[in-house]
Amino acid sequence: MFNPDNLVRNNIRNLKPYSSARDEFKGEANIFLDANENSLGSPLLKWYNRYPDPMQWKIKEKLSVIKQVPVDQIFLGNGSDEPIDLLFRCFCEPSVDEVIVFPPTYGMYEVSANINNVHLSKVPLTREFQLDLEALELAIKPNTKIIWICSPNNPSGNSIDRQDIEMVLNNFDGLVVVDEAYINFSRQKSFVGDLADYPNLVVLQTLSKAWGLAGLRMGMAFASPAIVAYLNKAKPPYNISEPVQELALKALDEIGQVNDMILQLVASRKLMEEELTRASSVVRVFPSDANFLLVEFTDARAMYDYLVAKGIVVRDRSNVLLCDNCLRITVGTELENQHLMQAINSFQ
Ligand SMILES: *Cc1c(COP(=O)(O)O)cnc(C)c1O
Repeated sequence: MFNPDNLVRNNIRNLKPYSSARDEFKGEANIFLDANENSLGSPLLKWYNRYPDPMQWKIKEKLSVIKQVPVDQIFLGNGSDEPIDLLFRCFCEPSVDEVIVFPPTYGMYEVSANINNVHLSKVPLTREFQLDLEALELAIKPNTKIIWICSPNNPSGNSIDRQDIEMVLNNFDGLVVVDEAYINFSRQKSFVGDLADYPNLVVLQTLSKAWGLAGLRMGMAFASPAIVAYLNKAKPPYNISEPVQELALKALDEIGQVNDMILQLVASRKLMEEELTRASSVVRVFPSDANFLLVEFTDARAMYDYLVAKGIVVRDRSNVLLCDNCLRITVGTELENQHLMQAINSFQ
């Protein structure tokens, strides 16, 4: 039976976390002179002179209703980058343990592995950008601690087959992280609803994509209470600032507006996919469950330079494994998409 207490690093299991003034006194009082804050105020109209809630309970209560996950199974971080880094720091012994990724995929898992001096094994996706389960089986070592799955995958845009992810969850006794940054644009069901079935599952989501709040920096990890407790233990005490908490709380009330944007972006993605498929410079458009399209061109570099000259920047992925001659194009506003298509169609 999977138990994160056996997987976590000894120093984290034994760690006595930082205890803040607000941890040590939680009762009612009128005068707070225990945290060395500036009681006079601040130069801002709204003061912000008090430390924020270290556990962000108000946000977690709202998310708990939206995601149907108990509050003690939610971790909030400064972007998804923070839970990614914390998972390495909590569960991977530097220069001893290993993790597995499936390229082409999101680059941050590898950067975070390198920062933490944790060996990273690469098991390439198949030509259809799906998991190669046989190759994965060979790559898993006794000291493999985390398998990172990005679904929908960046940069390919497709969802990873649910049965394959379930197969990994059922057969691997380390952590399986499913990064669902783009889940709101997908036809697939989130794995957040499966947490009760898989004690080794960690689901990552973010406010940066569908919620339109990349500038806010708020990422979410959903996992068992025991895993979330380890992340909380190792995080900086006040990792989400007060203004960010206030803005996130406000945004979470506007789910209708977010759903409207998702519908519009998915409709635009479909239109762009059709128009791109007809363009003479396009070899193929890969199926997408995200807010971007991976597009193979006859000459990606030339197209990239041509678009930049017209003031349009897309992401050149042509040097990435399995992405020869591919550009990754984010779905924009209707007007932006029209300009993009005009430019692509005028390319000789
Ligand atoms: C954009 C993206 C994220 C989001 O990162 P934040 O730090 O939350 O902005 C996470 N994972 C993937 C695969 C992404 O493409």
